[in-house]
Amino acid sequence: MEQLVQTITVLGATGSIGKSTLDVVSRHSERFRVFAITGCSQVKLLMQQAKACGSRYVVLAKEEDYAEAKAIASDLNVDAEILCGQDALESVSSAPEVDIVMAAIVGAAGLKPTLAAAKAGKKILLANKESLVMSGQLLIDIANQNNATILPIDSEHNAIFQCLPHDYQYGNLSDSGISSILLTGSGGPFRERDLTSFSLISVEQACDHPNWSMGQKISVDSATMMNKGLEFIEACRLFGVQGADIEIVLHPQSIIHSMVRYIDGSVIAQMGNPDMRTPIAHGLTFPERIQAGVEPLDFMSLSAFTFSKPCKARYPNLYLAIEAEREGQSATTALNAANEIAVEAFLNKRIGFTEIEKINKETLHRIEPSEVYSLESVLEQDNGARMIARKIVEEIQQGV
Ligand code: NAD
Ligand code: MG
Repeated sequence: MEQLVQTITVLGATGSIGKSTLDVVSRHSERFRVFAITGCSQVKLLMQQAKACGSRYVVLAKEEDYAEAKAIASDLNVDAEILCGQDALESVSSAPEVDIVMAAIVGAAGLKPTLAAAKAGKKILLANKESLVMSGQLLIDIANQNNATILPIDSEHNAIFQCLPHDYQYGNLSDSGISSILLTGSGGPFRERDLTSFSLISVEQACDHPNWSMGQKISVDSATMMNKGLEFIEACRLFGVQGADIEIVLHPQSIIHSMVRYIDGSVIAQMGNPDMRTPIAHGLTFPERIQAGVEPLDFMSLSAFTFSKPCKARYPNLYLAIEAEREGQSATTALNAANEIAVEAFLNKRIGFTEIEKINKETLHRIEPSEVYSLESVLEQDNGARMIARKIVEEIQQGV
């Protein structure tokens, strides 16, 4: 049977998810055509990717990279048209020719292009969890109003999506006989580290995840378990459930990617090697399955599956996120913003590892709650929290 060719824009192509996406797409060149790829730095890599995937457009987040990109394009003989800036990111996410948008920019910078894709009714493969945590129901509603589809790429949410019944009604667990969602997490690199030495954790140690190879921001978030906190909020929004419907389970082997518990005693789990190409491939052609280049799971080499509850003293950021979700959108928008500032300060070696939580907690304490729904109010709350968090970083540096 002849396949329909689908056209894709990959936002954040130079990142970990972006590279994995282009890898899966390249295995099925008869099914996908790359419309645009985007990146914020690594201009040379971006142009090499454009050459390899035959992308029609290349979008640079920063205007100042244009001359370098032009020179590399001429050296490499790349035909793609080079565009720059925020408007270009939004236009390649919403262009009429585009069927699929992979949202894989890290952080709040991904919000506007993802919203543009939602407004244009695209199939959105959502990796960029921060955009959903930051804007919450706004993104979901805009997607629904414009017949856009959001398919979860975060491995846990993709797993939950696979374990839910195919006729699951948004927000309605009980009609599907579901009693809870089990969100799993590895516990990161410091699951067994002596708590008294947490303040000595270096950037290199925090970025060295035992099971997954990821970008720096999500690696630090995994070490603090803020990643699981953001994922908790993401799960509430994506599946329309309450915080109380979600159980968080530590599973250090990262083979089970999440589960759904049913009232008859059944628990359905999704398993696989920790390789993001599985959820990416699942999202690209859902409901059809395609090869992803992922090694088959070898059960004979697995020694044990273990499970435990994440401890509050070790992972205070996770519990801050759970609390913020309970408070509402104003708090989750602020927490996401504060955490981006705190992680950046940690990566720049301006603060220590344990100060990430102090900044997040103190920002939530200092910020005024407000009604957050429109894009303007989301951006206002995000900006307000960033200002507060930056001030706290300075106070820490000055020893206040
Ligand atoms: P990464 O740091 O490897 O890549 C980020 C991409 O975003 C790069 O292409 C970078 O150039 C681009 N970018 C950064 N700042 C930008 C800006 N201001 N404007 C435009 N583009 C910008 O990150 P990643 O690990 O690929 O993660 C991407 C997203 O996917 C994150 O939201 C992360 O939480 C989520 N995610 C990642 C994984 C994973 O395994 N890496 C798993 C689940 C979810
Ligand atoms: Mg995840």
